Amino acid sequence: MINYANEIVNFKGCPSCAYVKKEFVLPCGLAYENDRFILSQDWELPIKGFFIVSPKRHMETFSELTEEERIEIFRIVNKTIKILRLNNICDRFNVIFEEKTNTHFHIWIMPRYQWMEELVGNIRDNIGKIFEYAKINLRTSENYKQIKEITNIIKREFI
Ligand SMILES: [Zn+2]
Repeated sequence: MINYANEIVNFKGCPSCAYVKKEFVLPCGLAYENDRFILSQDWELPIKGFFIVSPKRHMETFSELTEEERIEIFRIVNKTIKILRLNNICDRFNVIFEEKTNTHFHIWIMPRYQWMEELVGNIRDNIGKIFEYAKINLRTSENYKQIKEITNIIKREFI
């Protein structure tokens, strides 16, 4: 895998399980973790404020979480968005559940930036195009610096 900062990352098996076990790290570090969940900048996309929350336990679907865990994962999503909004990083978000076959379940907290709308019009219909654009055009040291700063804000304010 190539991470958001254009570095090659090596691991074996499930990427999320490897990340949970700290078999690889991102240059920005982890935003937040507790005994059940892990919150981090998206590994591959250099988009500011794009966070992923995953359960530490391997599962493929939302319904495999306990009721208590479902409440907790939304508490983490809500808190992350709140911090990003209060720090004027982004105001609106798309929250996406990904239940891909043979893939560790995770929730995407995807910021809706004006540049995305200018680029593709309808964000939801063109998520792939936005990701491709980001991988080609947003790999700059200034952007990496800001991604790290945003992770630090989450680290500091996530109580
Ligand atoms: Zn896994």
